[in-house]
Amino acid sequence: MDVLVLNAGSSSLKYQLIRTGTHEEVLVKGQVERIGEPGGEAHNHAEAVERALAGLSGIEAVGHRVVHGGVRFSGSVRITGEVERVIEECSALAPLHNPHNLAAYRASRRLLENLPHVAVFDTSFFHTLPARAYLYALPWEYYERDHIRRYGFHGTSHRYLAARAGALLGGAGKLITCHLGNGCSVCAVDGGRAVDVSLGFTPLEGLVMGSRSGDIDPGILFHLGRTRGLDLAALERLLNRESGLKGLSGRSNDMRDLEEAAVAGDARAELAIEVFCYRLVRYIGAFWAVLGGADGLVFSAGIGENRTGVRTRVCRGLECFGVRLDEEANRTTVRREGRISADGALPVWVIPTNEEVMIARDTAAVVRA
Ligand code: ADP
Repeated sequence: MDVLVLNAGSSSLKYQLIRTGTHEEVLVKGQVERIGEPGGEAHNHAEAVERALAGLSGIEAVGHRVVHGGVRFSGSVRITGEVERVIEECSALAPLHNPHNLAAYRASRRLLENLPHVAVFDTSFFHTLPARAYLYALPWEYYERDHIRRYGFHGTSHRYLAARAGALLGGAGKLITCHLGNGCSVCAVDGGRAVDVSLGFTPLEGLVMGSRSGDIDPGILFHLGRTRGLDLAALERLLNRESGLKGLSGRSNDMRDLEEAAVAGDARAELAIEVFCYRLVRYIGAFWAVLGGADGLVFSAGIGENRTGVRTRVCRGLECFGVRLDEEANRTTVRREGRISADGALPVWVIPTNEEVMIARDTAAVVRA
């Protein structure tokens, strides 16, 4: 089945036409950028979708990446009027993402009215989390009435990584998957089911990210409100856009820049990398205990696939679990799949993530069901 995969962000639309089958084949791949910006490639998402469709033919179904599926969707679904309404409701939980996903859906529905459209959610993989992992220790009514709980994100990526690692392992075991891009998360997977994840109610919790803080003591926010007079919008901006690697280093949100600067003697760049790796070791250690042991560890996304130095540092921090890298394999496994652990040690793999293929597979499966 030839599936068009649409992934709409606030200012970009990524698309791929993928032929599903025993081996997926990417027929076309493209991106419309700087949507709505002066001199951009499209004024709005509708125009961006039109542009993407201009060169395409033979589409049999459309798969949409949707960031937030709330508590309703535990898997991918065909988009009906009712599904569309729930996605819209979930916009309150993901105001920076769902509206763009919906805009792209509505535009493509107008242009491809007779095709099946399927929503694939970033959150649905985490429906298997036990209550002890998704509850925050707030008064109960905040969970019940306000739906405050861990939702988790990057689910399509973790699901892909767990499936691929399971295949490499020869069976779905206990896995820890690390998605380290601009946004970063780590996930504990047992027998193909997610049991915990570092991202929370929003994509702000957990690991140190490019410009997001990850975990901080919430008391810091009250203190800054009192002492600096920062309001909610300023605090939100601080934690989402000014923190993480960028904030710590005062230099860049890009790990490449920081590693270069650290080698050249920039102490803060070095410290930013150290905090990043330490936080990851801390989470992996916690998830190791949560799983009661792990059969394999996966590195993925921009940093995980490319930054061999980060992998070395993190794995050194995990030696007590039997993790040992093959330095040569680590050095040469860049932007491709491969095992980087030493013979006889716990398997550590680099697996390039592929959310688009997962969306295409789901779409074909939902349409055929
Ligand atoms: P996003 O989450 O926006 O998709 P990426 O997965 O591209 O982000 O990850 C961005 C991070 O990955 C940056 O810190 C960058 O340094 C690193 N990175 C991405 N691509 C490469 C590359 N080809 N070589 C080295 N580092 C890379």
